[in-house]
Amino acid sequence: MFEDLRDLYQEVIFDHNRNPRNFRIIEPADRTVEGFNPLCGDRLTLYLKLDQDKIIDASFQGSGCAISTASVSLMTEVIKDKTTQEAEDLFTTFHTLLTNKDSDLRMEALGKLAVLSGVRDYPARVKCATLAWHTLDAALKNETQAISTE
Ligand code: ZN
Repeated sequence: MFEDLRDLYQEVIFDHNRNPRNFRIIEPADRTVEGFNPLCGDRLTLYLKLDQDKIIDASFQGSGCAISTASVSLMTEVIKDKTTQEAEDLFTTFHTLLTNKDSDLRMEALGKLAVLSGVRDYPARVKCATLAWHTLDAALKNETQAISTE
């Protein structure tokens, strides 16, 4: 059963890597921030369209490994129509899941982001999975400087 779940999660990651969602430029965007993970070479630019405190559109451009591409693709899907506070809460939940092995988080709180839960077994890849979220965090705080995971 657990192995089946793992296979399913991998399938979803491969699918998002092959066909990234929201892989486009928002013009004009309310927020644009670049993120870079030097450890792996993942690079992305995140675009957000906001309506007051609500994220009405999210997209990205860039190139990186399968984990980083799947992560940013999934993120742009799940944060759409969320408030900035809800998106920040999701980042906290996701980050805790990946960085704290003993965390006893309810998977349902993560929704489709749960497919990336296997990354916690590979500490070197955690930054690949969280790069998109650190970039989002900077964008929501209205920072415009490129961010680096190092
Ligand atoms: Zn990577």
